Amino acid sequence: MQPTRRQFTQKALLAAAGCTTLAQQLFAQATSTNYTVRNGDTLGHIAQRHGVSTAELRRANRLSGDLIGVGQKLNIPGQSAATTAVASAGNPYLVQSGDTLGAIARAHGISVGDLKRANNLSSDVIRIGQTLHIPAIGSTADLLSHVRVATAKIAVRRNHWQRIVVHHSAIKYGNAKKYDAAHRRRGMQNGLAYHFLIGNGIDSGDGEIEIGPRWSKQLLGGHLKSYQLNLSAIGICFVGNFEQTQPSRKQLAAFTQLMDWLQGDVLKRNTQFAGHKELKGEQTICPGKYFPLAAMHARYD
Ligand SMILES: [Zn+2]
Repeated sequence: MQPTRRQFTQKALLAAAGCTTLAQQLFAQATSTNYTVRNGDTLGHIAQRHGVSTAELRRANRLSGDLIGVGQKLNIPGQSAATTAVASAGNPYLVQSGDTLGAIARAHGISVGDLKRANNLSSDVIRIGQTLHIPAIGSTADLLSHVRVATAKIAVRRNHWQRIVVHHSAIKYGNAKKYDAAHRRRGMQNGLAYHFLIGNGIDSGDGEIEIGPRWSKQLLGGHLKSYQLNLSAIGICFVGNFEQTQPSRKQLAAFTQLMDWLQGDVLKRNTQFAGHKELKGEQTICPGKYFPLAAMHARYD
């Protein structure tokens, strides 16, 4: 049974505050990777939304063609993005045993369509030893101008921030206003636990960067379990559950623009970058297995 939006929202209130620990893990475990076909869906769209290739989706459901019906249950194949190798920036990717286009695309934060276009592939067939060109992430549109304008009005505590930590909200609904209210209800007087939130097109724009009060006031974060880490870590949270789906291209474009600007223009140094689960003692699966963490380390370490 698909959870209702209300149930999702209630889960969000549990999970979104700092996105640590048990609530989120229980939620991630309880949700299945089944998908119910809705009116207007095509196999290609469903595949793209879940970051798998159409061929993988057909195989996982023993479909011989592209015909699907409303209400039909599809099994979305799980992938091991975490173990897929990542090409460092500007280098070709060498196809290895067990690779699929879907897994390679997901590990680099791009879509299967982008990967095929960049390599003039007409099918999903790849062979071991083949080299693939990995296109740049996402959009050339400036998703950051309002953040630059707002930040120009404040005194950034440049030497204070030691690291930047990326999160997912573990829920596909929500925006800065809703999470802020939820975090205040949980007793966080500074509101929204993260400094920045990146929308997914449901309750805020796809790739829309929202600035939290903790950035405007240069306050410590509330996004980590450790108080010591919160003191000096900027928190960036994607709206979405990346145990189930991958971030959108626009979200990743927004994130890379935000990171490039924070490291290059605001802090003017390569601040340490981490996924939430990589920090010692945090006991979390955040930002989810479909977040392209290795690709982001290749870019920001
Ligand atoms: Zn987190």
